[in-house]
Amino acid sequence: MDIQKEKTNQFTNIKNIIAVMSGKGGVGKSSVTSLMGVTLKNKGYKVGILDADITGPSIPKIFGVNKKRAVGMGNEILPVETTTGIKIMSINLLVDQEDAPVVWRGPLVANMVKQFYTDVLWGDLDYLLIDLPPGTGDVPLTIMQSFEIDGIVIVSTPQDLAKLIVTKSMNMAKMMNVPILGVIENMSYFQCPECNKRHNVFGSSNIEDMIKAMDVSLIGRIPIDPELVGLCDEGKIELYEKINFAFGEEFGMQIENI
Ligand code: ADP
Repeated sequence: MDIQKEKTNQFTNIKNIIAVMSGKGGVGKSSVTSLMGVTLKNKGYKVGILDADITGPSIPKIFGVNKKRAVGMGNEILPVETTTGIKIMSINLLVDQEDAPVVWRGPLVANMVKQFYTDVLWGDLDYLLIDLPPGTGDVPLTIMQSFEIDGIVIVSTPQDLAKLIVTKSMNMAKMMNVPILGVIENMSYFQCPECNKRHNVFGSSNIEDMIKAMDVSLIGRIPIDPELVGLCDEGKIELYEKINFAFGEEFGMQIENI
């Protein structure tokens, strides 16, 4: 089935697709994608998360569904549902062993990700969030070419922001004519619970200069929070309440309560 730039097919009706991108791994892209999903679900929207990070899939674990398996229905696959009803599709929900490495070449991986869209029974969704693999490789390219993406969110850390790699991701989105909703600076600072002072653990970032130069907006800063790590490790991200994303008209997006 080829559905170039289509969001609706006989099994799926998706209103908005947002992809989450980062220059490199480990900056909190999957955690931020998951937090966005939790916020949207709490606001009453129907949400799906497509884990396109095939070689480093972490969405099922963050939601505690990594022991579940997606089941087939004829030629299609049903996504797995989390405790609060977020629909998830990930390579880890298909393989027998969740720690088995995926040793496929780029084009094969990109094709698999495409099938996560075309062959999964997503049903009606208000938002499909796509957790892209880090960088600007085959998968982000295929997704930007073949899905009608409404916006890209870039996740970065203060150290990473200084590097060209983040700018590269933004330039890729611009080249592909996909709107950039903005940048989230994750692990931005640590707020001491005792003295309440903010510490810039990774030094201060150049984010203001960077967003100006790239003409994009700052969605917000997320602090380093051990509670977030703990809940992600335990598969209980749906219990995290400290961060709320506000999604405004035309996808204006802000972090509300930080
Ligand atoms: P990526 O998807 O970019 O590879 P992850 O979302 O998997 O990154 O996060 C990498 C690690 O950093 C995880 O252990 C996660 O729990 C942790 N992490 C992410 N965001 C934060 C944060 N704001 N504070 C503390 N730890 C974080």
